[in-house]
Amino acid sequence: MNEPITVAGVAVAPGERRDVTPVASESYTGDRTTIPMAVLNGIGDGPRVFVTAAIHGDELNGIGVCRELLGRLDPSQLSGILIVVPIVNVLGAQIHSRYLPDRRDLNRTFPGSHGGSMAARIAKLLMEEVVTGSDVGIDLHTAANRRTNVPQMRVRTEDERTMELAIAFGAPYVLDASLRPGSLREIAVDLDVPVLTYEGGEALRFDDRAIATATDGVLRTLHYLGMIPSGPPPPQEPPIVMHESRWLRAERGGIVDLHVGMGDRVEEGQPLWTTTSPLGAERATMESPHDGIVIGGTTLPLVSPGEAILHIGIPGEGWAGYEDDPSAEEDDAEDLEPT
Ligand SMILES: [Zn+2]
Repeated sequence: MNEPITVAGVAVAPGERRDVTPVASESYTGDRTTIPMAVLNGIGDGPRVFVTAAIHGDELNGIGVCRELLGRLDPSQLSGILIVVPIVNVLGAQIHSRYLPDRRDLNRTFPGSHGGSMAARIAKLLMEEVVTGSDVGIDLHTAANRRTNVPQMRVRTEDERTMELAIAFGAPYVLDASLRPGSLREIAVDLDVPVLTYEGGEALRFDDRAIATATDGVLRTLHYLGMIPSGPPPPQEPPIVMHESRWLRAERGGIVDLHVGMGDRVEEGQPLWTTTSPLGAERATMESPHDGIVIGGTTLPLVSPGEAILHIGIPGEGWAGYEDDPSAEEDDAEDLEPT
């Protein structure tokens, strides 16, 4: 038999779901802005897991996933504790923005502090009420605005426990991703809480495939952890693990026509896109520098030199012979990828 738990001052008995609304901030008129959370305390013993979404306020697919999960999960059938937070960055979501109103990135602000910025206060609240004491976390993201991601998991592949869970989740791709300073994933590692970061679809939209893939993935993970009696069947193909990826950038400005789709396998030398001028003159065709899989890309057909067009993942050990570009990682963190 499980024990009662208390989250945000609310006691939740075994077999019960309670929705709690800790205060994140106040509006200019003094109204309270809360972060809605569902706390499902299972009947039986088991791990404590959290699912968070919209840490970046414009990344909506995770909200859809949380809704699906909460419609399907019943605390009387659950072992352990599940805390679901559909919109962590409520202030950003209200203005359709990845960032807080003060332009801070919540996922660079962990562990946060009580007396800090808006972002730091929300980070601290999440740490205290949700992350601390958990055994596993699943954090749901999408690509940044005007980009899209094929459903994929971002984890430190060297961490065996996290990899085990990522494979159980069953997203089509698992991409090795270093820890970014101030991210939820980094701070959770310090607390010894493995966090699976899911990326799927684009910002400011609901993408049915990305939502379904993540919903199935969370349920598979809960089943793997022994928290629910059954889960979706494993995917037909096991996840493809990639230790390296690169964003390929436009050499010429203009209008870009992609020759490949999201999720396509590409071969070295294969034309990936052509840039033309608005008057129709061809300016450049980009060929793939290596074999790989298209795991993300732009959704905006107008490009300038240097803009990222396609994200190519490299299955297996890496992109042999390709010069390592440490600035790409930074760029990725700040600009391209929301994780
Ligand atoms: Zn994000």
